[in-house]
Amino acid sequence: MTMGFSTIFKVLGILFTGLVIVTILRALTIQDLVKFSKSPRKSDNFLTKDSEVGAYAERLAASLRIQTVSYNTDQLDRGDFIKLHQFLEDSFPLVHSSPNISREFINTYSLLYKISGSNTELKPYLLAAHLDVVPANGSWSVNPFDGVIKDGVIYGRGAIDDKHSVMGILEALEYLLREGFEPQRTFYIAFGHDEELTGQQGAHVIGQTLLQRNVDLDFVLDEGFYYLKDLVTGVTSYPVAMIGISEKGWLELELSTAMPPGHSSIPPLESALGVLAKGVANLEANRHPSMFGKGPEYDMFSSIAPYADPFYRYLFANLWLFQPLFVRVLSQKPVTDSFHRTATAITIFQSGYKNNVIPGSAKAIVNHRVHPAQTLEDVLAHDKKAIGDERVEIRVRKYIPPMPISPYGEEEEIYRLIGDTALQICPDCAVAPGISPANTDLKHYVKLTKKLYRFSPAFVDPITLPGLHGDDERLSVRDYKKVIDFYLKFILNADDYHLFLKKKDEL
Ligand SMILES: [Zn+2]
Repeated sequence: MTMGFSTIFKVLGILFTGLVIVTILRALTIQDLVKFSKSPRKSDNFLTKDSEVGAYAERLAASLRIQTVSYNTDQLDRGDFIKLHQFLEDSFPLVHSSPNISREFINTYSLLYKISGSNTELKPYLLAAHLDVVPANGSWSVNPFDGVIKDGVIYGRGAIDDKHSVMGILEALEYLLREGFEPQRTFYIAFGHDEELTGQQGAHVIGQTLLQRNVDLDFVLDEGFYYLKDLVTGVTSYPVAMIGISEKGWLELELSTAMPPGHSSIPPLESALGVLAKGVANLEANRHPSMFGKGPEYDMFSSIAPYADPFYRYLFANLWLFQPLFVRVLSQKPVTDSFHRTATAITIFQSGYKNNVIPGSAKAIVNHRVHPAQTLEDVLAHDKKAIGDERVEIRVRKYIPPMPISPYGEEEEIYRLIGDTALQICPDCAVAPGISPANTDLKHYVKLTKKLYRFSPAFVDPITLPGLHGDDERLSVRDYKKVIDFYLKFILNADDYHLFLKKKDEL
């Protein structure tokens, strides 16, 4: 028996209407992916005083005047790092004189503090930041190393990368010590001195030191993401506290071909240069597969759905249906495209030396930023297939694997601890997991714990974000107060005896 067309249309119509109703209902009722605790806690009562904000800002500005610039790895003159050490010692007398706090110089220029808690049953944690900054050669409206405070804004190289965290952590600790704070839980503060040069001499040695001492860390909190205002697709009304749970890897490949050289008057059908050029063009044309849903992307957009603008709220709440469409949208722009797949960039192409000689070899360099859901083998297999020519040799020049994805979600107490604290400072914010586009010192702590998180509590927006490694890096005095308040509450929350005792019992 065959169904009439009208019946088919009726059935389809009912199905479609049903789908529309379901998706709208979902968009209207979608809840936070993780229920962060907004219940009162001890740290609610701790807040820096408005009357002291001027002094905080002046101290941050003063730290920006010390030119701890990372130029290159064999840099000999690091005298400014010693100046910064002295400045920290002078600025935070209680931190540097308390009997339960020790400070060590690691590899001369990096700093490691240990704040000993009274309960050795509790696992220690680590707060990380870095002392160095990138050079400032662009066109600034003020001198990048004058530490200018103008119209309530602190300007200078390092204002949001990363001296706000160095100073913010120590301000918070000094404040707490003044209030008589005696931690139960031991924690460390690590300030590397060459993060901008991959941290090989600083954080790497700190990591080794802790490893040799058998320090079993609960978690590490470092830089990598911020409170993002108007920077996340579809979210314009609420800042997003993005917690980095991983970072992309770095892969550098050399592609090469070798074929007989010859005279240009009698060219062969194929040459080393032509074969490589074709291979490179194929590689560029065949992007790596989308990893959307294999990393935290799905959860990230689901997390921000309740805070998104109406159209995006509808879209993000129904990714189960719209994911293929959304992946296409993300793929349209380089910035959003790199977000959900391994990125491919051809950065160098070399061949030939004379206008009438066919070169016998050609070489190209490819720079991949590897998505955490892919392995080196995955990337190489894709590239080999995409290039599609055995004559193109592929050699790995440098590989830094993507960072493992740290646990997050409703059940993960440390993720909640960071989210809870972020919401104490910004109750209207969304909290979401993300993959940090930048690399951090955390790769040097990967053997110490599986729980590595990236969040530094400054607010950035489309106007201030370009200051990061760019011109006019800055942070408002008001927002700097929030940075200190975040660390203040975070140290208290992380010290919460019962929360972590409960955790130990479960293990
Ligand atoms: Zn940094």
